[in-house]
Amino acid sequence: MGILKPTTNNQQPRPQGASSEACQQLTTAPAGRFRPEGRPFLSVVIPIYNEVENIDSLYRALEKELDGIKGGAEVIAVDDGSSDGSFDLLRSMLQKNGRWRIIRLRRNFGQTAAMTAGFDLARGEVIITLDGDLQNDPADIPQLLAKMEEGYDVVSGWREKRRDKFVTRRLPSMIANRLISRLTGVALHDYGCTLKAYRSDVIKGVHLYGELHRFIPALAGWMGVRVAEIKVRHHPRRAGKSKYGLSRTVRVMLDLITVKFMLTSATRPMQVFGLFGMIASSLGLIGGIYMTLLKFIYHVSIGGRPLLLMFIMLIFVGIQFISIGLLGELVIRTYHEAQSKPIYAIREIAGREE
Ligand code: UDP
Ligand code: MG
Repeated sequence: MGILKPTTNNQQPRPQGASSEACQQLTTAPAGRFRPEGRPFLSVVIPIYNEVENIDSLYRALEKELDGIKGGAEVIAVDDGSSDGSFDLLRSMLQKNGRWRIIRLRRNFGQTAAMTAGFDLARGEVIITLDGDLQNDPADIPQLLAKMEEGYDVVSGWREKRRDKFVTRRLPSMIANRLISRLTGVALHDYGCTLKAYRSDVIKGVHLYGELHRFIPALAGWMGVRVAEIKVRHHPRRAGKSKYGLSRTVRVMLDLITVKFMLTSATRPMQVFGLFGMIASSLGLIGGIYMTLLKFIYHVSIGGRPLLLMFIMLIFVGIQFISIGLLGELVIRTYHEAQSKPIYAIREIAGREE
């Protein structure tokens, strides 16, 4: 902010006298209810890391679409610590266009962090995310918005004809999408597509970290959102280089385990670890009793039996699991209290409007 001069015909200034606090409250009002003057309907959030060759065409392609958006649109480009002059180019190009805001991060924090910075500044009722390399096509924006109009909270793009390499990109992605859909219960063909639309109150209720941006529909699924998927265009990368390699697949799989855990048992770790613990200890105990009987009633020597070791181990493993469960309960309590993160999510409130 502060980079762009607020001389613009697309954006009206904030109402005179409105304190920033009051505006803050207005932004967080449930979607679709009312839109205070000066706030655009749509925010487009774009993470940009060393995309200097793409910025010019990205700008043109976007501007062409955004002129027609009812209620107005803003673009938030987040420069994720580029070293190729992306930021300077954005700034020099956009100084005259009040629709654009450019956030420059201090260093390369990664795509998820860059997108989160954009979400935090976005003021629109609907937020659309888009890659900065034009592999996603801004021409799909009206389609996404039309689908949102039908009452969805998240509309996800599906790159049906994806123009990336098969072995390193499309194949791992196919497997990942199956797994993620299966495990999280939110079935999508293409989690990895950045082109997605969200209601702003949904995205603002999801806390992201690490590389979790691709899991937003699944995480938002926790709130009970309505998710739709539509086919979108996809183009090969024409300029610049991809920022990811094959190692992303492994990281996505690890993230999936985290997400699954957060979605199902993060609120009750004891239920998960405690259960394993109970099973292991019970098996160990039963085995232990059996061994004791063998020794004292049937007078069999059990000193050299590997089974004995196994049963003793099971008992200890069980105790460990139960302890981890208890620790988990403590950690989860701190987590919820420290963030004052609610254990529920409201869709809207009827009645007295405040
Ligand atoms: N990106 C970013 N920070 C990073 C890596 C990537 O902001 O650390 C941006 C990048 O500039 C692009 C988008 O995220 O706009 C997707 O990256 P890329 O095109 O390299 O991913 P791919 O399409 O190859 O999966
Ligand atoms: Mg790309």
